[in-house]
Amino acid sequence: MYDVKEKLREVLATLPQGVRLVAISKYHPADYLMAAYEEGQRVFGESHEQEIRQKHEVLPKDIEWHFIGHLQTNKVKYIVPYITMIEAVDSLKLLREIQKQAAKVGRVVQVLLELHIAEEATKYGLTLDACRELLAGGEWRAMPNVQICGLMMMASNTDDEQQIASEFQAAADFFDEVKTQYFPDDPSFCERSWGMSDDYPIAVRHRSTMVRIGTMIFGPRVY
Ligand SMILES: *Cc1c(COP(=O)(O)O)cnc(C)c1O
Repeated sequence: MYDVKEKLREVLATLPQGVRLVAISKYHPADYLMAAYEEGQRVFGESHEQEIRQKHEVLPKDIEWHFIGHLQTNKVKYIVPYITMIEAVDSLKLLREIQKQAAKVGRVVQVLLELHIAEEATKYGLTLDACRELLAGGEWRAMPNVQICGLMMMASNTDDEQQIASEFQAAADFFDEVKTQYFPDDPSFCERSWGMSDDYPIAVRHRSTMVRIGTMIFGPRVY
């Protein structure tokens, strides 16, 4: 078996204090997650509703599950009963549905707003202006079962480190803008989720608080 424990230790050793690891376990079998769990890892990220449900059922209950993929509104009800954080909220419609379903089960679900800063047209997420508009609208203030904890983004898939760095910096600057304007007295708005296997050292230099690393820990995914 691929040495998940050793890889996990190697990755953890490179993370400065204050940066949390979300182990991205999509497409990997439950025993890989269990190996990371035995090494102390408790936060796992998945991107498909059925897969995360199956893993949630068989794995220890003290795991903190993050949903990192594009989430359709009709799937929200399936994950809300146990999910800790939905990282990729990219519309008011989705936020409303999370509020509705979380209220039904009496939970507060943490969310991040996903930004689209990368150049690829294929990436999901809110443009900075769309994100400003969502927050200015203020409807989120009346959502007691949703806690907005920060921002999430993916940089362009490129070898150009300058480009990647400037995208992370843009996200960090935008975090400050939003924090000042909407969350100055809310300590739970504090997360900057950026950085994956290929770019997390750059993300960490640009104030990431949460890196989402899959391949470096679990090896290549078999789709
Ligand atoms: C798959 C995925 C990751 C992890 O990517 P790796 O390159 O395997 O580290 C991180 N974030 C999101 C949103 C993903 O979909």
